[in-house]
Amino acid sequence: MTELAPYNAAVDAVLPGVRADLEDLVRIPSVSSAAFDQAELDRSAARVKEIFEASGVTDIDIITLETENGTGRPAVLAHRAGPEGAPTVLLYAHHDVQPPGDRSSWDSEPFEPVEKDGRLYGRGTADDKAGILVHAGALRALDTMGELPVSVTLFIEGEEEIGSPTFVDFLHAHRDRLEADVIIVADSTNWKVGIPSLTTSLRGLVGLEVTVDVLEHALHSGMYGGPVLDAVTAASRLIATLHDEDGSVAVEGLHTYDNAQVDYPEEQLRTDMGVPAGSQLAGRGSIASRLWTQPALAVIGLDATSVDRSSNTLIPSCRFALSLRVAPGQDPKDAHEALTKHLLDHAPFGARVTFGGLELGPAFQATESDVMETARQALADAWQAEPVDIGVGGSIPFIADLAAVFPEAKILVTGVEDPDTRAHAGNESLHLEEFRRAILAETILLSRLGR
Ligand SMILES: [Zn+2]
Repeated sequence: MTELAPYNAAVDAVLPGVRADLEDLVRIPSVSSAAFDQAELDRSAARVKEIFEASGVTDIDIITLETENGTGRPAVLAHRAGPEGAPTVLLYAHHDVQPPGDRSSWDSEPFEPVEKDGRLYGRGTADDKAGILVHAGALRALDTMGELPVSVTLFIEGEEEIGSPTFVDFLHAHRDRLEADVIIVADSTNWKVGIPSLTTSLRGLVGLEVTVDVLEHALHSGMYGGPVLDAVTAASRLIATLHDEDGSVAVEGLHTYDNAQVDYPEEQLRTDMGVPAGSQLAGRGSIASRLWTQPALAVIGLDATSVDRSSNTLIPSCRFALSLRVAPGQDPKDAHEALTKHLLDHAPFGARVTFGGLELGPAFQATESDVMETARQALADAWQAEPVDIGVGGSIPFIADLAAVFPEAKILVTGVEDPDTRAHAGNESLHLEEFRRAILAETILLSRLGR
């Protein structure tokens, strides 16, 4: 405990200022979606710059890229040098936010922070303006303790909520300035209030359109029905081969793991998802693994004749869209190959199966390292509770992009969110004690990385 006392004191000393800066930042409606006033993004980038200036950082640029991949939003890129020979740590967060949504989904004004029952409500209080202030808070706390033990690069993106259109271009354009030994991405969640987490895996994505053709043209279903099945029936039979009897994905060649560290109780899942009583869950293995480390496959669209326009006709062609979530560790290109092979091999009655609309998103699997252990120890010390490794079922493409451009860097995905945060929804909020612990953990971590 005594080793931790100075860290606790330092964080307590800077916390009121950090909290005030967070509230200021939340008051700027920095919605990156093009339908909103983009001048607010300039304002919030400028405010982020001031926040870092107040954290001992002097070398700060605001950069907006325009590339063939899209028009970027202002990013803040800053450096502060540590002692000679110390490692460089890249601290990532984003200053743009989701649109507020319906005012009726909020109990208070979305862009006016309000504290209630230990939580701070407002759009961006957690996702991800708190991430910015965790970084700034750690720098300020370390300042009160003496020298900054590591060199720090701050990269605060302004376009995360619109899919980071110029992110990869930005990484390449500013590669020299972004190069780091350790990357801390403060934009994820913790397992629950009181239990900190590292997010160590993200599933990848294969999106695919499939067309099933059974006839050259439509035919009367009375005259010709029988010897040839219609395309919707053929497509349905093909879709039905994608899962086993128990609902697990049946495509050969897809990786699957059942090694999640936490227990996600079935009752909890039913409540979280709104699964009606009486309906059985699909798949096998632990529930956490079904969400994070096993593949999942869903039909997300289907084109056929609508019921209102239906007639006694054999439908010649049917198109559907598949969304395949790929287990961490598998290249989505390999998963795509396995999926198309399965669909061709299982084409019913020799129906013609063709593909289009391919979309690939990489998965992420953290590599075990000393840095991960140091991070877990810092989380344990800050929370006074054992951290757990968690996965995220969806992909966060920019994390895989970071890993691809900087393969040598150790990537740590941390966060301030908890299951009640409701990022992207009405009544988004930050648990203030968790926020303090997150600043404390990063302060301890940066200090130990410098040793
Ligand atoms: Zn975010």
